[in-house]
Amino acid sequence: MSYQALYRVWRPQRFEDVAGQEAVTKTLRNALSQGNTSHAYLFSGPRGTGKTSAAKIFAKAMNCPHSENGEPCNECDICESITLGNLNDVIEIDAASNNGVEEIRDIREKANYAPTQAEYKVYIIDEVHMLSIGAFNALLKTLEEPPANVVFILATTEPHKIPLTIISRTQRFDFRRISPQDIIRRMTYILNEKEVDYEEDALLAIAKAAEGGMRDALSILDQALSFSNGLITLEETLRITGSITQELLSDYVSAALVNDTEKGLALLHAILQEGKDANRLVDDTIMFCRDILIYSKTQEETVLKMSKVDEQFKQLSAEADPEKIYEIIRVMNQTHQEMRLSSHAEVYLEVATVRLTQPVMSKAAPVVSEGKGDGQELSIMKDKMQQMQKMIEQMQQGGQNQSAPKPAAQSRKPKKQQTFKVNKTQVFRILEKATKEDLVKLKDVWPDLIDYLPAGQKAIMKTSKPVAASPNGLVVTFDYDILCERAQNDSFLLDSIGDYLEKVIGHRAELCTVPSEQWLTVRQSFIQRMKNSTEESEDVSTEEESAPEEDKLVSEAIGLFGKEIVQIKE
Ligand SMILES: [Zn+2]
Repeated sequence: MSYQALYRVWRPQRFEDVAGQEAVTKTLRNALSQGNTSHAYLFSGPRGTGKTSAAKIFAKAMNCPHSENGEPCNECDICESITLGNLNDVIEIDAASNNGVEEIRDIREKANYAPTQAEYKVYIIDEVHMLSIGAFNALLKTLEEPPANVVFILATTEPHKIPLTIISRTQRFDFRRISPQDIIRRMTYILNEKEVDYEEDALLAIAKAAEGGMRDALSILDQALSFSNGLITLEETLRITGSITQELLSDYVSAALVNDTEKGLALLHAILQEGKDANRLVDDTIMFCRDILIYSKTQEETVLKMSKVDEQFKQLSAEADPEKIYEIIRVMNQTHQEMRLSSHAEVYLEVATVRLTQPVMSKAAPVVSEGKGDGQELSIMKDKMQQMQKMIEQMQQGGQNQSAPKPAAQSRKPKKQQTFKVNKTQVFRILEKATKEDLVKLKDVWPDLIDYLPAGQKAIMKTSKPVAASPNGLVVTFDYDILCERAQNDSFLLDSIGDYLEKVIGHRAELCTVPSEQWLTVRQSFIQRMKNSTEESEDVSTEEESAPEEDKLVSEAIGLFGKEIVQIKE
């Protein structure tokens, strides 16, 4: 009874249940009910917007003998076996893993055989943009001379990477980001079915964080469910998504509007101290300001991306100077760029806060709040600015030449300000008990694990790779030092990973992070240490066996890590 993710259990089985894609599903249903289908489709759109679900429903509706109005019955043998993924005539291919020419040639050959059980053979090729040029050419040949009763559905998040020759032979459908309202509707349905209570604001927070992807939304909901005691609360979901309450956001923006530096900084520190994600704060502030601007012009609630129209929101949008709101968006946007290249996100946010709480045009800062003398107010501000200036200088010195942001390829390997300090004791402890079986097991579940994490944590773990594992420990590498640090210090993330592993492989694992650049060295020093310790004990008995001993060591290491990991140096 392995654990099933919500998005798998609640995958839509009818077009009617595919959220937020009415235009697409209506056209598909019409084509199906009029028997007017094409032999090749391209479903493009962001991840988690229902492309593969729609493709499977399409495959069912085409083949279901009882289909009505373009919807499958979902009860007959054909429907059921397509749902379960074991009908031979509906073939799902993940181009991300099968991108070879051979696979597509294989399709070409097999596509020429008539379907065995169903009326139509349907090939669903997911992430089709990952195919190699050769494979695209082979696919093109098939599309040029489509075999009878065969339908291709190509799904992709990156249509611009698909050759035009292919695109022009398909009927294209663009799946859109799903609106928060639609995501909330679906979550409400699921929670009602599961008889779980929820705070409405909690669902709004999840929908916001999911950024238009149902799959992400359901992953976050999954987490929220596992922490809930029968009630999904706003507090818990904000903790999971790393988002900030609208109240705090309103206060923060208000502080900027009245140029209250102290309050702005105090709020910022409070937000960060709560463990909120700095990037999330920047994103949320931008979105919130966008909503204020739009609402101030339209008074339309439905166009809002993330905000709830409460008293404070109404007041802000009525009174805020649009120029200042633009300014906030501009500064936050810039901060976002700067933060990406730096491991000092907080400092950049502080600088941004100070900038935003300065009057835009005047040279001398006017008195901001009542009750304090000018002099005092000004000197506090000057102190703050000086401190900040110092921090920036230190950062720049550390970063050698941080003059202008460089193109991505170069900035990839910046001359590091400070390198992440690997906890060797911990790594060695894991390596001592590492086995290949444990590593294989973890590698298997890793992509699903990352999918399961809430957006903020997912962003951290996206580039992570498990490189060694023991029965209760795990070494993971990251491309960037900053990610090692963040992952290692994010207790919520570590807990989530532990929970997931417990569910899926039956036990938790202590996680230790190592920058990819350092991994070879760390591993080498572990092997060296093993070697030394065996030599020490060897010394007592025999002295001249160091050569065979080395072989033994290597084979021991291979036993531990698997062949592909152990490269013998020297
Ligand atoms: Zn059916």
